[in-house]
Amino acid sequence: MKWSFVYLLFLTSLLYSQQREKIDSTAYYVSLNYPLVDNNNYKEALSNTQKKIVKAERSNNIKEQASENYNLGKLYYDLKKYNDAIGTLLKSASLYSSLKPNTKQVATLYTIAMCYMEKEDFSNAEIFLNKAKVIQDFLKIPDTAELFSLQKGILYKSENKLDEALTIFKTIIAKPDNSSNLNSKIEALYQTGYIENQNNRSNLALNYLYKALELGDNSDNLEQRSNILLALSTVYEKILDKSTAYSYLKQHLNLKERITIRNNKRLGIDDYTKFKQSQRLKEIIQNNNEIKEQEKTSKFSKLISILAIALISILSLLSLSLYKNNIIRNQSNLLLQEKNNELEIAKNKAEKASKARSEFLSTVSHELRTPLNAINGIAHLLLEEKPKKNQLDYLHSLKFSGDYLTKFINEILEINKIESDKSEVEQTNFNLKQLLFDIKNSLKELAVANNNDLVLKIDEGIPDYLIGDPTKLSQIILNLINNALKFTKNGTIQLITNLEMLEDKIATLYFEINDTGIGIPEDKLSSVFDSFSQGSIEVNRKYGGTGLGLTIVKKLIKILGGKIKLTSIVGKGSTFSFKLAFEISQSPVEVKVLPKIDYDFKLINKKILVVEDNKINQMITRKMLHNKKIICEIIDNGEDAIDWARNNKFDLILMDVHLPGINGTVATEHIRSFDKTTPIIALTAISLHENREMLLSFGMNEVITKPFVPEDFYSTIAEYI
Ligand code: ADP
Repeated sequence: MKWSFVYLLFLTSLLYSQQREKIDSTAYYVSLNYPLVDNNNYKEALSNTQKKIVKAERSNNIKEQASENYNLGKLYYDLKKYNDAIGTLLKSASLYSSLKPNTKQVATLYTIAMCYMEKEDFSNAEIFLNKAKVIQDFLKIPDTAELFSLQKGILYKSENKLDEALTIFKTIIAKPDNSSNLNSKIEALYQTGYIENQNNRSNLALNYLYKALELGDNSDNLEQRSNILLALSTVYEKILDKSTAYSYLKQHLNLKERITIRNNKRLGIDDYTKFKQSQRLKEIIQNNNEIKEQEKTSKFSKLISILAIALISILSLLSLSLYKNNIIRNQSNLLLQEKNNELEIAKNKAEKASKARSEFLSTVSHELRTPLNAINGIAHLLLEEKPKKNQLDYLHSLKFSGDYLTKFINEILEINKIESDKSEVEQTNFNLKQLLFDIKNSLKELAVANNNDLVLKIDEGIPDYLIGDPTKLSQIILNLINNALKFTKNGTIQLITNLEMLEDKIATLYFEINDTGIGIPEDKLSSVFDSFSQGSIEVNRKYGGTGLGLTIVKKLIKILGGKIKLTSIVGKGSTFSFKLAFEISQSPVEVKVLPKIDYDFKLINKKILVVEDNKINQMITRKMLHNKKIICEIIDNGEDAIDWARNNKFDLILMDVHLPGINGTVATEHIRSFDKTTPIIALTAISLHENREMLLSFGMNEVITKPFVPEDFYSTIAEYI
């Protein structure tokens, strides 16, 4: 309280200097606080300042935080709550230390010093006063230097350093009077008077005190005036002038009462209590809110935890199911792989089996052909040797059986060839109309045998020359007409060929073979195309056959790019039809018109080398050649054949293909190295791996297939000799 007068002076000077500085937000709030305090509304001032601190903290504005903490500390100081004030002001001072030095920082440090003074903690008061002084010196704030000195003097006085204090006060008193140092001078006079009284220099004391009273006549600083009056009373009491002492004391008390009334009003202790209570209430509410917030947060985190657990569970389940799925998939893959391997093995086995079957059939048919050639050959020779009448029937039966077996074996070989993809489609120039006429002519006798009419209807629009496989086409048509003639008696068999479409040099032809024969039951319509399938046992007994003809026909049509169709009504007849496309040929076919050779004459005395290892076939061939007066030499292996061909002149060589040692093809190749002219005709029971083209490529001129038809045998030899 003793120092508050100096302090007020100091603040007024600071505020004055601040107003001359740039007005910042802190100055604005300082100025805002004053009217409220002036209106004695500390409560509102406290809560306003508190709000401003929160606001400054939120916006992270250090300068405003420092300034507002100073304001709050100042309010606490006014309300004499020095501990609260020190706490708040220290916070402000620490915030200011991070900023540029400024007047409010000086005020803060100074106020802290004041608080310590009030608490009579002089050493701390001096520390903060010095701190304030350093910054105020740096800032060179006018009019405040004296106040600092005054304060220092008061501090020394409090610490009983009376001489130091007197020196300071007297320096201030010695300064010339002016309005700005008036108050400092009054205080210095009062302080000096006070000390001189303590030093028992009463006159000196009275002198200084009266000067102070006189100078402060117009001052409204009641507290200072009351202090001076009290000091005067003390001096008079000391010099035993009781009545004067009493008079000053009374003046002092009157003034004191006025001050107390004013201060009680101004400092509004209730306001502080209320403010503190509201502060507490706020804290409680805030705590409550925080608790609620925490509860909310904890509820939220609980929810999050539950969700997280649920999510983790779902993910775990998902991973588990994926893992299991993976295992199952791997197992299935393994199983599939195993099955695949098994299938692969089965497929390989099936392929091997099919290949083995083909090889077997080929070998069997080949092996059958050679003895069959012997049977057919001997039957032919015996028939030529004018047998007795009873022997003739047997020989005919023998020939029939031989022919049947030959046909059967040929058909098996044919199917085998097609199924092994060994059957190649020819692309040769041919005359379709001629081909059909030839077929018709070749079947004339068969037609007559069953009293059938064989009619040929050819579309005039069909181009004369086509490119395709005439051999396979003949095979198909021959087979179908053969069947039709076989299963029809006293009826008509028609071979119809129509031009279905002509486009881009491609002629699509429609072929139909119909008859008025026995017909095929509906339930057998599709099965007649299966191997070894015949209409019925009765049919087989009555008409014979192998059950392979239609199988071959169907397969051949498929190879040529068509599809066979069959319609039939039992007792009325059957119709087989198919369509095939042929490229139209621009060049006419060279028709080889074979002159009718009298081969009997041509063959006489010709010299033929026969290369054949089978003894029976040697015998038959020799006999057949001798019958035509041909001179022949028989060799049973390839090596000797080469020597014989080199050392002798032959008109022709009949070369068996399958020979011990080097085979017929290799022997022919050797012979061709020194003899390019002698005709060489292959005599072979063609197997799966052989075909005409392959044999001709070794240098052979022609191929006669065993078992051979004697007429073909002679005519072919005659052609090349
Ligand atoms: P096959 O050698 O027995 O004639 P195919 O395969 O040629 O063998 O014929 C199978 C069966 O189809 C025959 O047995 C017969 O029952 C029937 N078939 C074929 N062509 C005719 C036809 N034109 N008329 C009546 N039936 C036929």
